Amino acid sequence: MSDWRREQQVTGESVDVIVIGAGPSGAHAAREMARLGYQVLILEEHARVGLPVHCTGVVGSDAWRQLGLNPDLVQAELSGARFFSPRGQSFFISAPETRAVVVDRGELDRWLCRRAVESGAALVTGARARAVRVSEDRAVVEADLEGEPVSLRASLVIVAAGANSSLARKAAPAAAAGGFLYAAQMDAQRTGLEEVEVYMGGTAAPGGYAWAVPVEDRCRVGLISRALPGGFLKKLVSRLEARGAIVPDDARVVRHRIPAGPRTPSFSERMLLVGDAAGQVKTTTGGGILFGLLGAQAAAETADWALRAGDFSAAGLARYEQMWTAKLGTEQRVGQLLRKVQAVLTDEDLELLFTLIRRAGIATLLSRLHFDWHSFGLLRLLAQTLPGL
Ligand SMILES: Cc1cc2nc3c(=O)[nH]c(=O)nc-3n(C[C@H](O)[C@H](O)[C@H](O)COP(=O)(O)OP(=O)(O)OC[C@H]3O[C@@H](n4cnc5c(N)ncnc54)[C@H](O)[C@@H]3O)c2cc1C
Repeated sequence: MSDWRREQQVTGESVDVIVIGAGPSGAHAAREMARLGYQVLILEEHARVGLPVHCTGVVGSDAWRQLGLNPDLVQAELSGARFFSPRGQSFFISAPETRAVVVDRGELDRWLCRRAVESGAALVTGARARAVRVSEDRAVVEADLEGEPVSLRASLVIVAAGANSSLARKAAPAAAAGGFLYAAQMDAQRTGLEEVEVYMGGTAAPGGYAWAVPVEDRCRVGLISRALPGGFLKKLVSRLEARGAIVPDDARVVRHRIPAGPRTPSFSERMLLVGDAAGQVKTTTGGGILFGLLGAQAAAETADWALRAGDFSAAGLARYEQMWTAKLGTEQRVGQLLRKVQAVLTDEDLELLFTLIRRAGIATLLSRLHFDWHSFGLLRLLAQTLPGL
């Protein structure tokens, strides 16, 4: 691969698309473009795709099937979860069928990348993009490869470098990020935890929520929050350990940012942002695998159009944002509205809400919500419950 890279430098040859980041969004965009016969180069800063893992790996089972993702990567099937208030009231949401799957996230990234490479994309690991420059007839990615600076050229660049990278900001300085939440997660040995548990309230995760997800003989414990999450995670782990639900071992804590909303515009001349880099996440839960894959499809469709038309202008690429916001926009807006409501709820308010949900049978209505697409179900739920209150 490095021969290919040196050759490109010497001859000044340009590829059709450089994808920065080999997470799910980048790998999927690369695969879709390679399938169409374009020359695609993926740059991944880590030596191994998929590491370190900073994700619980929960994806809606409908989406998993519909996107044709590999069933062998599924580690657990989920049909319910128990929600806890700050003072320990709880309700259980359950469905008769599997609603979500928990997957091996590192393997998912590697599988998606393998598919891209099998379709003809080139993958270079250990290649960190530092900047993207746009000139009249091409985009140039300045990267470090094996400690050496290199300049790589392409007609178009897809930035899929995730939420932690500053590249999206550098690549599209005019774009306004929708803000961030902070997440932390660790693995522990599972001893007594039998079902997925979700914890709400300012003592568990201010402005967010915390979770414990059993997966085989392990348990993924984590949270997203407006505040720095380390201390909250420590408290949660101690509580679960005291209950005999888990035994922490020396698994390390991973910390990462979660976009709280879309970054717009998600395009500029010769450039598209995709996945977490564009804030393509479910704003209710912070989950971004599915929305990133859908964003990647829209990016590949737009890139195909741009390469055929020879139009890489910002005005031409604006169709990308129209395409992905048509799919995800309503969901993201409803999620952001819910977060605003959550921000003003005190723990006392939450106790009242839990009492109401338990008494009014709202848990049954909540269990009918789709795992990934919440807005329609939530609005219907409000319409059904408000008149009776
Ligand atoms: C604790 C936690 C739990 C989560 N749980 C879930 C969940 O259960 N379900 C769900 O749907 N979502 C979950 N998410 C969110 C999910 O992980 C992200 O939405 C998803 O990873 C976004 O994919 P992506 O491809 O856009 O970015 P990423 O997965 O972040 O991939 C970006 C890639 O780009 C590479 N990169 C970064 N900068 C550069 C650079 N300069 N040059 C080259 N390469 C670079 C990175 O190494 C990485 O491989 C969770 C997030 C966290 C933090």
